[in-house]
Amino acid sequence: MTLAKLPTAAAAKEAARSRSSTMEFYENFFQNRLGDLHKEGRYRVFADLERQVGHFPKAVYRDADGQAREITIWCSNDYLGMGQHPDVIAAMCDAAQTCGAGAGGTRNISGTTHYHVLLEEELADLHGKEAGLLFTSGYISNEAALSTIAKLLPDCVIFSDALNHASMIQGIRGAGCEKYIFRHNDLAHLEQLLSAVERCRPKIIAFESVYSMDGDIAPIKEICDLAEKYGALTYLDEVHAVGMYGPRGAGVAERDGVMHRVDIIEGTLGKAFGVMGGYITATRAIVDCVRSYASSFIFTTALPPALLAGALASVRHLKKSQVERARHQERAATLKKLLADNGLPVMQSVSHIVPLMVGDARLCKKASDELLERHNIYVQPINYPTVPRGTERLRLTPTPFHTDADMQHLVAALLDVWAGLNLRKVAA
Ligand code: PLP
Repeated sequence: MTLAKLPTAAAAKEAARSRSSTMEFYENFFQNRLGDLHKEGRYRVFADLERQVGHFPKAVYRDADGQAREITIWCSNDYLGMGQHPDVIAAMCDAAQTCGAGAGGTRNISGTTHYHVLLEEELADLHGKEAGLLFTSGYISNEAALSTIAKLLPDCVIFSDALNHASMIQGIRGAGCEKYIFRHNDLAHLEQLLSAVERCRPKIIAFESVYSMDGDIAPIKEICDLAEKYGALTYLDEVHAVGMYGPRGAGVAERDGVMHRVDIIEGTLGKAFGVMGGYITATRAIVDCVRSYASSFIFTTALPPALLAGALASVRHLKKSQVERARHQERAATLKKLLADNGLPVMQSVSHIVPLMVGDARLCKKASDELLERHNIYVQPINYPTVPRGTERLRLTPTPFHTDADMQHLVAALLDVWAGLNLRKVAA
């Protein structure tokens, strides 16, 4: 073997100079892309938060200088506060003490723990399906399941709601099959698209139950009717509904008595269940196919036992307890009324999600900044591409733990910020 010759000093200097101008090009490029986001008011700033058990929705916030102060969180997806439930925390601590920290491998190679088995059974039972399958997040469950199922079905066509989440869109793209986007919740448009495709081709209708930005709800029964008429599978994302709707917290399909008619139900363990992870439930064959063919399920380390134990405790608790669900709905209704009574432009959603419209990216960010800086209220601005331009908003998520006093404080702060920024109000 011969060694490559070392460059001469001059050649090394020239290489370093050209490398540094190359890097300057890349660095400028990325700085400019960030500049674009700043210009449009879309640059995302993360809030440094420390939630404290027993005090949610209060948390400690650290500003850019590292100064800590107490704030109230108004935009958490820990919708029911299960992230601090004593049963959940105890189960997590216990599992970590007894089984250790990580799963130690992929599901296939030593990473399947007894908690995986128990939780998958529990989730299948929750949704009345034959089987369940866990993923590292709700995002991955959508991406993996949709791409795999649609890729396996020969000549499959997907019909996707226009407001479907990025993870479903990614799964549909990954499938590489023919797809049609139907106007949001528009049954006539969906039927028009379905009827234009040969009856014999496999089809999937992919949609959500609660749409998380407007808080509106899909006509699940009618979509199932169309699926039956045109021979399609139904794929329902219940991420913003599991834990919160239905007598056992299985979601809107359970609440509406149509859960048995939905073929594949997808959910998350990271929102109302308060922990982390995602899942699908379906027939044994569908679940086994995703388990056996989905790359982003197979080639990744399994969820750790402590996390699964916490999720298991949370799912079991919310299957039986109605207290959190009832209080959650009451809190959301109370907040919507309070905002409307004060002339604040609240979108009258039919769910627990309370969007407050601003309609401008920069003003939305400014309103959020002022709420945090001057009123110790944290609500993240929601801007494009999460919502269409011109519909920028503050998305409020009241939980069972937000008190009347928290709500009075929020409304007073919003009125102050709205006046200061001259934001649109509506007749009270
Ligand atoms: N599906 C929808 C509709 C979502 O809004 C989200 C996340 O916000 C996900 C899936 C992804 O879930 P997870 O946060 O568990 O990855």
